[in-house]
Amino acid sequence: MIFSQDIGIDLGTSNTLVFVKGKGIIIREPSVVAVDQRFSPVRVVAVGTQAKEMIGRTPGSISALRPLRDGVIADFDATAEMLKKYIRKAITASPFSKTRVMICVPSGVTEVERRAVNDAAKSAGARYVALIEEPMAAAIGAGLPVENATGSMIVDIGGGTAEVAVVALGDIVTSRSIKVAGDSYDEAIINYIRKKYNILIGERTAEDIKIKLGSAYEYESEGAMSIKGRNLVDGLPKDVEITSEEIREALSDCVRQLVDSVRITLENTPPELAADIVDNGITLTGGGALLRGLDKLIEKEIKIPVHIADNPLDCVVEGTGICLEKHH
Ligand code: ADP
Ligand code: MG
Repeated sequence: MIFSQDIGIDLGTSNTLVFVKGKGIIIREPSVVAVDQRFSPVRVVAVGTQAKEMIGRTPGSISALRPLRDGVIADFDATAEMLKKYIRKAITASPFSKTRVMICVPSGVTEVERRAVNDAAKSAGARYVALIEEPMAAAIGAGLPVENATGSMIVDIGGGTAEVAVVALGDIVTSRSIKVAGDSYDEAIINYIRKKYNILIGERTAEDIKIKLGSAYEYESEGAMSIKGRNLVDGLPKDVEITSEEIREALSDCVRQLVDSVRITLENTPPELAADIVDNGITLTGGGALLRGLDKLIEKEIKIPVHIADNPLDCVVEGTGICLEKHH
């Protein structure tokens, strides 16, 4: 019989990950919920990958939604249901055991919403619940020396938000959050293709193009791909060939906003800590860190070395896991 169980959760705007002490990451699913609108309160019919596949192709009464859109909890009931499903899946200990859950929530989440996340975790069977701030979890998961007096800079680029933060002595010294992240990159691609070719593509196609072809800086093996969309002139399906240079141009404005955010955060950092960052470099985490050449571009613009964390998509949940272990 297990008397205690530690669970870490990264409740991200794009992906939710669950870490169980002793087992590692056991859940890695998109933060998507499919609900049946005919019921009140709405009934959740699917979560995660199964729900994501329904986006844009659901029958009348069912709609697939992202409850944490834009870095805030846009749909609280759906978020709570999703969280409960994942926690119940992770808990294998007896109901009388001490299940402790550490949850990382986007930094835009309000006090009321934080309390609600806490309640949802408790009603799913967690005995103790603690919340951790996203940049801190990302920095810990990336292996940065957050407890040291030395300043470290972490840039976490998720779906709804990008967070830039300087951490030292176990705390966040300065931080900045912008709502220009992975989702905005996808939108920028949609807008670019609509304006230039009069073709409308969906969100999932845009994300696919970003991952296959997107970049922030020139790279080897640049290329092109054929994409399918709807011709806005006659409404019929149409193919068009898109190059990596075009996608880089489409993303340039979003990327520039990220660079500006890094620059402003550095300007707001006390000089001693800024000097540490110049020596130690900037670390990128989150799915957006995988955009080709983003590290190179920031390095060139800010003139400070930039490193991509190992497994950038896992840093936050690993950070929650490490935090739980330290607290025991
Ligand atoms: P969140 O913490 O908000 O849930 P994640 O850290 O899971 O977000 O990152 C998700 C974002 O990363 C999505 O916008 C996704 O499109 C993007 N992403 C994932 N892989 C890549 C890649 N190879 N290149 C560019 N963007 C990527
Ligand atoms: Mg995240």
